[in-house]
Amino acid sequence: MKKVLITGGAGFLGSHLCDRFIKEGFHVVAMDNLITGSLKNIEHLFPLKQFEYFHHDVSKFVHVPGNLDYILHFASPASPIDYLKMPIQTLKVGSLGTHNLLGLAKEKNARLLIASTSEVYGDPLVHPQNEDYWGNVNPIGPRGVYDEAKRFQEAMTMAYHTYHGLETRMVRIFNTYGPRMRVNDGRALPAFFSQAIKGEEITVFGDGSQTRSFCYVDDLVEGIYRLLKSDYAFPVNIGNPSEITILEAAQEVIDLVGNSNAKIGYRDLPMDDPKIRQPDITRAKEILKWTPIVNRKEGFAKTLDYFKTVVKA
Ligand code: UDP
Repeated sequence: MKKVLITGGAGFLGSHLCDRFIKEGFHVVAMDNLITGSLKNIEHLFPLKQFEYFHHDVSKFVHVPGNLDYILHFASPASPIDYLKMPIQTLKVGSLGTHNLLGLAKEKNARLLIASTSEVYGDPLVHPQNEDYWGNVNPIGPRGVYDEAKRFQEAMTMAYHTYHGLETRMVRIFNTYGPRMRVNDGRALPAFFSQAIKGEEITVFGDGSQTRSFCYVDDLVEGIYRLLKSDYAFPVNIGNPSEITILEAAQEVIDLVGNSNAKIGYRDLPMDDPKIRQPDITRAKEILKWTPIVNRKEGFAKTLDYFKTVVKA
């Protein structure tokens, strides 16, 4: 039985990856320190003998007994309010954590896939963003702790690949949504869904004209699975190119929830908030034969079903 280590295994993406690898017949070792993850996301896996969980901060030396075939590094705070609260941990897990996992991968002769991000493109000057664009990042702004940790992560991973011949994969993840997002993680969609369900004001930052392109979690997981199995060591964007303004996203959520009391309230735009974002997925299409298949209507409906179970109206 092949064995995979998933760091951040109790988080939103990590827990969906645990499910996928269990379904594919793997032995799954999930690791998390639960600063943003939750055991609720993986409690259904605890009875399985092919599932293990370690409570550990991967910024510290990582030990896993026995063999490992694959490592997926998904541990990190991932929402702007989380990294404002935990800037040092965010920097450490992307840098020191990645170094530890690279060392572990080398020791175990395992293939390592790192979770990079559209944030490596910063507030982009190229649109849509393809993998050859180097980005427009403010290293000392509020997002710098995340963006630069992820950029360092890519540099370190590429160095292990070229210098040590380690098998590495890099996914640049664009905004992803779906069940198990944390209600209070401060990101747009969890905020909008929970506010609309509760009949609270929908908090749109700035004038809402900034754009994002939202990908349903199942599509992302499929892309990551294909990338891991591929032989491609350079970064690959995985995201859904369907781009909308944040105001449109808020309106779509309000319409879906059908709460006519929900009103939009405008708040200050956070510093360095990217104005536009859309993945160019030509590379993923060519190399992985991957394309997203869940549209927003379907994905938002599934996400609403989930938020209704965790948010009381
Ligand atoms: N945003 C918003 N209201 C909220 C939370 C976020 O209007 O309650 C905006 C935010 O300023 C950004 C966009 O929605 O322009 C997406 O924010 P999110 O935190 O979800 O992700 P990221 O900025 O990392 O793409």
